[in-house]
Amino acid sequence: MELNENARVDTSQVDDRRGSGGGGGMGIPIPTGGGRGGIVGIIIAVLVALVGGGFGLNAATNGDDSAQGDNTSLEQKCSADDALKQLDCRNALYVNSIQAYWRTAMPEVFGEQYKPSKTVFFSQNVSTGCGAADSGVGPFYCPADDLVYIDLTFYRLLADQLGAEGEFAQPYVLAHEYGHHVQDLLGTEAQMRRQQQRDPQSANALSVKLELQADCYAGAWAKNATGTADEQGQKIFTSITDEDIQQAIDTAEKIGDDAIQQRSGRPVNPDEFTHGSSEQRKQWFTKGFSTGDPKACDTFGAGT
Ligand SMILES: [Zn+2]
Repeated sequence: MELNENARVDTSQVDDRRGSGGGGGMGIPIPTGGGRGGIVGIIIAVLVALVGGGFGLNAATNGDDSAQGDNTSLEQKCSADDALKQLDCRNALYVNSIQAYWRTAMPEVFGEQYKPSKTVFFSQNVSTGCGAADSGVGPFYCPADDLVYIDLTFYRLLADQLGAEGEFAQPYVLAHEYGHHVQDLLGTEAQMRRQQQRDPQSANALSVKLELQADCYAGAWAKNATGTADEQGQKIFTSITDEDIQQAIDTAEKIGDDAIQQRSGRPVNPDEFTHGSSEQRKQWFTKGFSTGDPKACDTFGAGT
């Protein structure tokens, strides 16, 4: 994967709240409370965020938008010549690419306008429309405030604990979360939540379909990523290789529910799956990538 050095990072698509939470920055390891719990926590908390309740706080914090970060230093950093050597600037640029893709694709494919959503960079803890969250939950999308949240130290955990080391794991993770934003805009997410309430027994199965669709959307973005450009029309990626795509597929496999259950020493139980098995996650990312068409991501119709 190569980024175009002439591409400009649009930091207005990011809300930098690091440092406001105290002491954070990029040097602090994620407080996962003992490894495995952290990984499982990612999966569970992301589900909770999606199916409504939030992280145990819910309605009380809804609409609390007071925690706007200060982007000044990020803006300066990411307009410097060596910006793309910085993890946070690169991630901001990935967000730019993903949103540039959906700005075009959503009207084309679904006949609806894309509404941009910011990604919040936080360290350690953050207050969200879905309640308070800490880094241990991993990256997530909150439908209540339409924001993607990530503590960038998550990538180290992904590499160290799951062995998903390739750089392309990063845009894959972000593209997956933006897939949830698209589902939110299209009403897929709300529809699934109503279905879950009507039929609690199939709640997990429905969650799997939603998650696999987000993987598939990430694949569709990956296929079209080299066509995305910054505001001045500069291409964002100069190249994405087969190896990069393989890294995304490997990551998808490593965070499959069966893989995670195995890693945590539990028996594999498909009834408890909320994100899909390794094989399913790989399959749906690949389907999105091979077709490059979000319409092909019909996990709800495919009887997965
Ligand atoms: Zn997800």
